[in-house]
Amino acid sequence: MAVATGTEAGEAFADYLARVRAFTQEVLRPHEAALETELCVPEAIVAEMRELGLFAITLPRDWGGLGWTMEEQVLLTMEFTQASAAYRARFSTTIGLCAQVVLDYGTEAQKQRYLPEMASGRITAAFALTEEEAGSDAGSLKTRAARAGNGYRIDGSKRYITNAPDADLFVVMARTGAPQDGHAGISVFLVERETPGVSVGAPEALMGQAGSRVAEIQFDDCRVPGDALLGGQEGNGLKIALRGINHARTHVAATAVGQAIRLIEEMVAYAKGREQFGQPIAEFQAVQTMIGESQAELSAARALTLDVARRFDAGPVPFTEIACAKLFATEMVCRVADRAVQVLGGMGYMTKHAVSRLYRDVRLLRIYEGTSQIHQLNIARRVLAEGGPIHG
Ligand SMILES: Cc1cc2nc3c(=O)[nH]c(=O)nc-3n(C[C@H](O)[C@H](O)[C@H](O)COP(=O)(O)OP(=O)(O)OC[C@H]3O[C@@H](n4cnc5c(N)ncnc54)[C@H](O)[C@@H]3O)c2cc1C
Repeated sequence: MAVATGTEAGEAFADYLARVRAFTQEVLRPHEAALETELCVPEAIVAEMRELGLFAITLPRDWGGLGWTMEEQVLLTMEFTQASAAYRARFSTTIGLCAQVVLDYGTEAQKQRYLPEMASGRITAAFALTEEEAGSDAGSLKTRAARAGNGYRIDGSKRYITNAPDADLFVVMARTGAPQDGHAGISVFLVERETPGVSVGAPEALMGQAGSRVAEIQFDDCRVPGDALLGGQEGNGLKIALRGINHARTHVAATAVGQAIRLIEEMVAYAKGREQFGQPIAEFQAVQTMIGESQAELSAARALTLDVARRFDAGPVPFTEIACAKLFATEMVCRVADRAVQVLGGMGYMTKHAVSRLYRDVRLLRIYEGTSQIHQLNIARRVLAEGGPIHG
């Protein structure tokens, strides 16, 4: 893998960041409008992502990764999400949700089998938690994994699973205990796509992020060996899931920042070029207010996300701070997107313009990896438990 070789030889982070910036500007952005009709990230671009090492940014070098810190991962994410967020979706489930749980909780054999394949991008992994009756209330999931011989038999279904149509591996949360065991009865399984009894539905039509492929997965009498159980231990499945989810939430906050950077860039370009009443609309204070407000909010979200990333690197996982960053940054980018449409006037409503696409794309960020309401709730619980604000 070209990039990994370069970094093994000691490529400085700044040089790698510059290469990711060039790839974003020269390859991803020019192609992004075509995603609206292609409805998938073309294999040629996925091959370039692999070559650049984008599947490797979150894993340590021992496992074929590039060994970047969370702060560096966040800076990279802020860069490549200045193009359509659908590109990020193509590798995000592999590098965040799935790779992290295998890294932290997998057996040595599971790590050997999957991590180098994930880091190279030869394996695409999808994270299968959500079900029809278990969304925000993930602990109520019903997919069942019953012991059968030396392994397990999995039955149930998952929905809204990003990359399910392209995945080679599913990280599946399923109930091994009784329903009354609650969270303690949930375990995590590594289910390979070719396993009999696994079927994936057709990609859903999405409001935005065209090119990202999201589908249902059905498990019918799906027999997996005993060593498909993550870490070889039943239980603790939601705790394990939250490890991957909190990694991903930090990246989602960075995604919101990257998308806001792009939106402000689009706003500025249009406001300077568009003339009304004999002058560029950028000269009107009402337009400047929208740009100024957006920049201030972007700066705040960027600083918060970087602060959270540094705390993540210092350990332990800063759950509440991650929730604050995810909540603030994703709400922020939707406000910025709304202003961007307004600055562009009618052009902001034309699907041919990037701003209308971005407006639809960013809406998802407030829903997945915990809705804004769930983050508000969890942050408030912690603040109330502490008896006051968390700071410092
Ligand atoms: C495009 C897309 C991709 C996704 N990818 C994945 C994936 O790869 N893997 C995966 O497992 N899941 C995935 N999801 C699922 C996503 O994580 C869930 O949609 C999300 O957690 C919300 O669950 P829900 O849709 O069932 O909404 P619900 O939980 O039904 O929520 C509906 C509304 O009720 C509110 N609500 C719920 N509970 C409370 C509460 N206690 N207090 C206050 N308000 C509450 C919510 O905030 C929301 O406004 C994806 C979803 C989408 C749309």
